Amino acid sequence: MHSRALSTVAYNRGMRNSFKCPKCGGQKLWAIEHVQHVDAFGKVGGYTKVAPSSLTAAEMPEKGLLWGENVVAKSVGTLEAWACDTCSYVEFYAHDLSALRTLADHADSGVRLIDASSRTSPHR
Ligand SMILES: [Zn+2]
Repeated sequence: MHSRALSTVAYNRGMRNSFKCPKCGGQKLWAIEHVQHVDAFGKVGGYTKVAPSSLTAAEMPEKGLLWGENVVAKSVGTLEAWACDTCSYVEFYAHDLSALRTLADHADSGVRLIDASSRTSPHR
């Protein structure tokens, strides 16, 4: 029982820390520092570019080059992935979670922080 509890703790830390797949125990892992996807613009004669994949995206005001403010689309919570070479299980980790706090202030953003650590009863 004691050793089982220890191994559960190791798995709960994730592949990034345990260097072990939680599904099959495999130890050959792919580390993908920046998860990306291809963005395509236009249909015929359009072009493509590699863009970072993220938890969400938002339009944020940014100081203009010369004056004023521009609204620009930004990725929020860019992703890092770890994939098991044996069973293909994938874990994602998000970067820059602090930007989510700003989004959580806006009810229509669809982003909210659930802090279960401060809950005393499930029936509150
Ligand atoms: Zn695996």
